[in-house]
Amino acid sequence: MTDVNHWIRAELRELQAYAVADATGLTKLDAMESPYPWPEALRAAWLAQLNAVELNRYPDPHGAVVKTRLRQLFSLPDHQALILGNGSDELIQLILMAVNAPSRTVLAPVPSFVMYRLVSQWLGLRFVGVPLQADFQLDLSALLAAMAEHQPAVVFIAQPNNPTGNAFARADVAQVIAAAPGLVVLDEAYFPFCDEPLLDLLGGNVLVMRTFSKLGMAGLRLGMLMGAPVWLNEFDKLRLPYNVNSLTQASAAFALDHWDDFAELIRQIRQSRDELIHELQQLRGVTVFATQANFVLIRVPDGPQLFAFLKQQGVLVKNLHQPPLTPNCLRLTVGSAAENQLLINVLKNGLGNA
Ligand SMILES: *Cc1c(COP(=O)(O)O)cnc(C)c1O
Repeated sequence: MTDVNHWIRAELRELQAYAVADATGLTKLDAMESPYPWPEALRAAWLAQLNAVELNRYPDPHGAVVKTRLRQLFSLPDHQALILGNGSDELIQLILMAVNAPSRTVLAPVPSFVMYRLVSQWLGLRFVGVPLQADFQLDLSALLAAMAEHQPAVVFIAQPNNPTGNAFARADVAQVIAAAPGLVVLDEAYFPFCDEPLLDLLGGNVLVMRTFSKLGMAGLRLGMLMGAPVWLNEFDKLRLPYNVNSLTQASAAFALDHWDDFAELIRQIRQSRDELIHELQQLRGVTVFATQANFVLIRVPDGPQLFAFLKQQGVLVKNLHQPPLTPNCLRLTVGSAAENQLLINVLKNGLGNA
């Protein structure tokens, strides 16, 4: 015990490990996973490909095949670099390890993706959160003032934002980029569902991050970071040599070879999202916020109570009851048609709308 207290950093001992809600036996609509398993025919071809993977050998340290196909998918210009991560979470960690030094600051709007703050804390970086406006758009004057004051090494902007779901105004993001003293990381985790991508802002001090997690491959853990080689070469030095394993590389290459099938799954999720939004809008007492992701944020009269009722009825969503910006809010991942119908029915009961 005393050894732990002596050797483990005090700040770390005070933190709790990142908790993932237990979803055993529940309909899982809390983590923005795709509701669809891969189609049967696709699975057979995929397994055949995995069969050829030589697990006795180390993976390709650079993921060259996956990178080449991703460059094509994203039409990435030749002069921009690309590195792969074990999910985009790992890429956030790499970026922050690279800039970490005493008195360095990381800045992001809040509420946003929690990993920006958590990884900063783990590394001893100071995290500054700048509240969004009531409509969940960027508070540009507050952001510019905070950037001038704190001179952040990195500004993270999720487009669209998690947990609110909205896309930020492009002109606002452009002003943040113009004023940023250091890096700006545009996190496009929900790019398959978003109509306002910012990938073309890439270059200079702007990096763009994407992931396969939200489009049916959360279990693979594959994230990608794009930007100028001068930056990415530095991050690459901190990347563990075989951070993306052989099975993930083979599976991702396969998915990229069969992209039409994934495009179809994405289309289905977008359609289910529109149907879910329509159903939610019919419910009395529910405010439905605009979304460009595969989830919908709603505000209800009593969020914590409704969250507990949903869970007791077998449906797990995310409780976002966090005043001042998201009091009584729930984040609902878009599920299959049947899951969405179940969700709506239980919501109706819980709200007394039946
Ligand atoms: C889900 C999510 C991620 C995490 O992606 P992984 O690739 O699964 O690590 C990153 N950013 C945002 C905004 C997310 O919502």
